[in-house]
Amino acid sequence: MSVIELRPHHALCVHFFEGKGYSEGFVRHMTDVIEKLCDDTEIEITDSCDTICSACPENTDGICRSADKVSEIDKRAAEYMGIKPGEHISWRRISALAMDKIIDNGKLNDVCRDCKWIDICCKER
Ligand code: SF4
Repeated sequence: MSVIELRPHHALCVHFFEGKGYSEGFVRHMTDVIEKLCDDTEIEITDSCDTICSACPENTDGICRSADKVSEIDKRAAEYMGIKPGEHISWRRISALAMDKIIDNGKLNDVCRDCKWIDICCKER
């Protein structure tokens, strides 16, 4: 697979995705993206709409309807993980950073505090 663009907080969403989302098409697409991720998949960090956003009904011409809120979530996620937009990183590495620096580090509630899906991700944490 070619390079996958990922906004920082989507490295978290992938860990908790359980088939819920903004539309059937979005869920199908996100499922496909996740199934294709493997340790060596090359990820390019972006601070705008990414591969997952590409099938989202909230995405209008590359701008998320909740861009202000989502950008803040991305900034917090990127800061904890120590990554920057434009950086290339393996899925193995960013996945480990998401787990170690945020999820297992008890920071999910802080990073994702304004996200409408947070109850899915934090229900067992
Ligand atoms: S809501 Fe916004 S950030 Fe989330 S997938 Fe849709 S376009 Fe992307």
